[in-house]
Amino acid sequence: MEPKRKLKGVHQMEPSWKRVNMSELMDSLAKDMFGRTRTGAITANECVECGGPATDFRDELSQKEYTISGLCQSCQDKVWG
Ligand SMILES: [Zn+2]
Repeated sequence: MEPKRKLKGVHQMEPSWKRVNMSELMDSLAKDMFGRTRTGAITANECVECGGPATDFRDELSQKEYTISGLCQSCQDKVWG
């Protein structure tokens, strides 16, 4: 099941978007949306959205999600709700 994501004010997708490096794409999205890059936040064990520590996760899935989205547990709860 695909989680619903609200993307506001992001760049229009290019026809060749599938060939774009996904982590670069998500970094630029995160930078636009949250003012910091996803990989930068993850490397620092910080949440890309709230900037808080991202060290406590409910389960392996949430931890894995963090490595993908850069969201801490509480922000994941807010986003995926
Ligand atoms: Zn957070």
